[in-house]
Amino acid sequence: MPMTRKWEVKQQDTSCNARELISLKYALGKIPYIIDRTADMSKGSFREIKQNLDPLTDIYDLLDASIAEEPPVGVKDGDIIKKGYSKECDDLSEISSNAKAYIMKLENDEKEKTGIRTLKIGYNKVFGYFIEVSKSFVDQVPENYIRKQTLVNAERYITPEIKELEDKIIGASAKKNALEYEIFCDIRQKVSDQQRRIFNTAKAISLLDVITSLAELASTDDYVRPVVDNSEDISIEGGRHPVVEQMLKGERFIPNDTNLDSKDRLMVLTGPNMAGKSTYMRQVALIVLLAQIGSFVPAKSARIGLVDRIFTRIGASDDISLGQSTFMVEMSEVSNILNNATRKSLLLLDEVGRGTSTYDGLSIAWAVIEYIIDPNILYSRTIFATHYHELNQMSKLNQGVFNCHVDVMEKDDGVLFLHKIVSGGTSDSYGIEVARLAGIPDDVLRRSKSILSELERIGNFKVNANADIEEGEKIPTAKAMPGQESLFNPESVFYQREDKLRKHIRDIDITKITPLEAMNILYELTEMVDKENGLEQDSHT
Ligand code: ATP
Repeated sequence: MPMTRKWEVKQQDTSCNARELISLKYALGKIPYIIDRTADMSKGSFREIKQNLDPLTDIYDLLDASIAEEPPVGVKDGDIIKKGYSKECDDLSEISSNAKAYIMKLENDEKEKTGIRTLKIGYNKVFGYFIEVSKSFVDQVPENYIRKQTLVNAERYITPEIKELEDKIIGASAKKNALEYEIFCDIRQKVSDQQRRIFNTAKAISLLDVITSLAELASTDDYVRPVVDNSEDISIEGGRHPVVEQMLKGERFIPNDTNLDSKDRLMVLTGPNMAGKSTYMRQVALIVLLAQIGSFVPAKSARIGLVDRIFTRIGASDDISLGQSTFMVEMSEVSNILNNATRKSLLLLDEVGRGTSTYDGLSIAWAVIEYIIDPNILYSRTIFATHYHELNQMSKLNQGVFNCHVDVMEKDDGVLFLHKIVSGGTSDSYGIEVARLAGIPDDVLRRSKSILSELERIGNFKVNANADIEEGEKIPTAKAMPGQESLFNPESVFYQREDKLRKHIRDIDITKITPLEAMNILYELTEMVDKENGLEQDSHT
């Protein structure tokens, strides 16, 4: 199909102002340079680009000759048309800009004619231009002067001459503005008539811009030429996120591998908050996209089996104006993916099920994975990032599901994020560590830690991610797994522990104790709280 048809543009209404025409002129001024630099390029896309590069010198010349270099935003306020473009416009401009000189001349003529030294010409909005004569010279005023206003020390007059001049000056300015607008509209229309040529050239330049920018990146930032084939593999060695690696400034971006193929089809990606799961998923999407648009990719090597679409469910947003809550948006997006993905699609799902209760969310996430990994339904290549560590068990129950996690190193003073994707699942999210980094108050952190340890203790809440599950073995059900319900159960240890504390306080008879006893009781209470929060063993607190 010829390029001109492919790039066809709809005729647009003209509404731009003179400043925009000047911007257009500067852009057009660069085209000869671009044409010159691409003169030797004759292959592939460059041939098409060259065919569509129109020097547009006629439009450049028209704008250069007609539009002032720094026109105002308003198109009816004058000062748009360049001097020399229209004689009529120049004449009117001369009258309005020389108004002061005309007035001075008339004033001197009148002084000479009347012999009144103090005569002067002034202007106000009510009378326009007038002649002012001080009271002592009023008897020298000629008969053709028409009195208009009396002041304490002076009289004000008009004359036919001064009114004629006024009409000329004021009229010239209005006429000039109207004429400039007319000329401007004409020029704008002429440019607009050529919009197809302008758009085609702009498109050719934008394609050239994309190609040369990607080429520059490829050479300066160590990109590699990917192999794109019809396989069902995505095999990336040392992949990097092209934007995050630029933003890190000084810090090294940690490259990661990706292997999704006919066997390892769906990666359950776990790992701490802030470890780099989202970055990793996005980098896979970008590498696939770059490869498929014909670009080199940020990796050591890459083999990309063509994908028909990349589906993502990343980040949390709502659309309350359309009656969609955050979770509703999340589920709508998942629904769209499940209804439209194919075996050839790439699916990137980040924390599906997080926007609702633990049981609901985990159940949905579990079922979504089962749906995707079923060879008779979707079987799309997928990365599924999650904090539901229970999902790690799915690799034992579903062929094609495999686990990876982002590695961290535990240190005395916290956690070191290694940003390295390694095989196997993990059961730690280090969410409280990340909360600490974000500046959550110590009291909240302390309390969260104690709740976490209680949860893990009472409910065996932490599921061993790598625990073997024999084939056919019953999957732990939501009911069997302890969770948030126990938090709010009045029988729970949380309630009991708080009640113990309350009881202790309630038992104090504040009217009978001395200040010293009060101090001792306070000390006891503090010790009790500390003991229950396990602070003695906690180096961070
Ligand atoms: P959460 O679970 O909290 O959403 P996450 O695991 O998705 O976190 P990201 O948002 O992907 O984490 O990454 C957090 C930050 O870590 C990024 O903003 C980036 O600065 C840094 N980071 C991620 N991946 C890498 C990497 N491979 N090399 C270096 N830094 C990285």
